[in-house]
Amino acid sequence: MCHDTTKLLLGIADENLKITDGETGEDGVIRLTGHLDYTPKACPKCGIINDQKIINYGWRNTTIRFSKVLSNTVILALKRRYFHCKECHGNFLAQTVAVPKHCTISNTSRKECLEKLGEPVSLKHIANEVSASDSFVGRQLMRAERDFQTNWHYLPEIILMDEVKSTKSATGAMSFEFMNGETHELIDLLPYRTINKLEKYFYRFDQAARENVKIIVTDMNYTYPKLVQTVFPNALVVMDKFHIINALNRAFN
Ligand SMILES: [Zn+2]
Repeated sequence: MCHDTTKLLLGIADENLKITDGETGEDGVIRLTGHLDYTPKACPKCGIINDQKIINYGWRNTTIRFSKVLSNTVILALKRRYFHCKECHGNFLAQTVAVPKHCTISNTSRKECLEKLGEPVSLKHIANEVSASDSFVGRQLMRAERDFQTNWHYLPEIILMDEVKSTKSATGAMSFEFMNGETHELIDLLPYRTINKLEKYFYRFDQAARENVKIIVTDMNYTYPKLVQTVFPNALVVMDKFHIINALNRAFN
């Protein structure tokens, strides 16, 4: 395939980035190789205009991950030009619009991730589709979440509660997410899941809103059933998540 076409398919709109080779491995992963090179206009460290001040200083190997193409993971091994500034003696790496600085997950994956967050699917599912981790998708969601306001006067009759890992470190705290059980719309994502904090959070909803909740569907977690005795006086906890989701789907169909 023509490598410009590959760029087009991956949504790379950077003419300094050239894809030179690519093959599908036995593991089904499409591995592309390419390089990124240009003459910098100025030094990003000291701001000096590049009047013979910035010299090429070798290459650095980096990786960019893209969303899946025909169910195949796509990884670009990108050699980037490294520069040295004679003015401030700083070094810096060639940058591209295909990926944010210091990141390996492409901007197209990020965009796709945000679009998919609007669909009634799990974070794990999205993570798989955009070839990223659950925690990456969680962080995107957190970022997007700042843009919407919680309505403290309404809660749906059926709520799905779940836990997601939203920080990068393995020891990082789990987050708590809950959504409307009928529409699968996300209601909120919280950076904590302890009973005290959750109670405090849910008490911010009107009593009428909390009394409206009839069913809470959740995984086997000892924390959430306790919420029923306190903040959701009329609710019933259903532990078998998949069972109820299937039942709901059948009812809708
Ligand atoms: Zn400089």
